Amino acid sequence: MALATRTIEGNNSGLLLRVPKVVVMHSTRSGIASKTDASELTSTINWFLNPAGASAHWIISKVERVRAVADTLRAWHSAWLNGLSWGIEFTQPTIDRTFGAGHYANAALIGRHYVSLGVKPVWLDDWDGNLSASGFVDHEDTIQGRASGKSDMGYRFDRPRFIASLEDDMPTTKEIVDATVKALRPVIATESAIAATAAVKATATTVANIRKSLTGGMFPGAFIKFDDDKTVYWLEYAGGIWVRHSVRNPTTFRGIGGEGPVLVLKASQRKRIALGPTLPNLAP
Ligand SMILES: [Zn+2]
Repeated sequence: MALATRTIEGNNSGLLLRVPKVVVMHSTRSGIASKTDASELTSTINWFLNPAGASAHWIISKVERVRAVADTLRAWHSAWLNGLSWGIEFTQPTIDRTFGAGHYANAALIGRHYVSLGVKPVWLDDWDGNLSASGFVDHEDTIQGRASGKSDMGYRFDRPRFIASLEDDMPTTKEIVDATVKALRPVIATESAIAATAAVKATATTVANIRKSLTGGMFPGAFIKFDDDKTVYWLEYAGGIWVRHSVRNPTTFRGIGGEGPVLVLKASQRKRIALGPTLPNLAP
């Protein structure tokens, strides 16, 4: 899914000289209570295109994520803090207007984007512009926002809900490894230690080859196949025994774990090397 539902070239003053670690959160506040979410968005886009106006890196409405200024450029949202921060504007005509589920869903996507760029997934109670801070902060809680009497984002924005939504639903490498190790435990327990030892002994020459081919990838092991079949497995040295896993996408796995030869074992070794759980498909 494309992050931006629309892209405009909003006001900016050239390249940021450092990568920001803070995102300043704003609401648009036209002050016109009769405005709909859509008409507030349109007004904001026009304001961001007007050289007399302002800008932020994103405008978020209930349905849209408008990329207004590239992340490499300084947007116009927090005066002297512009060079140190990214900015997001949420459509909210007046301070009492509630934010919709769409605002939060869109904010989660944009927020995760900034977390992926190094912003900590935390809410800052205030920010005086110091460079060691990292996280998301209300405009009204920045030293610049206070100095200029800002009140955005105000009392309607559910900050804990937003921060909770930044937790990525993709598993981390550690979670994948932990899940694999956990899944392997019963396999290791039920497979005969004698058979496993025999497998290692019977492939003594091959095991030496396997050790040499270890790539230092995310799972210690090597790619293998048996000489009577095309299927490629990931052979893992786990808990003192060798376990082979079906790999849904060997090409992708080899790219992630490092390039290594596919070692060919004798078909007679197959039954001696326990078959573990299928590895997750890491194809992007
Ligand atoms: Zn603001």
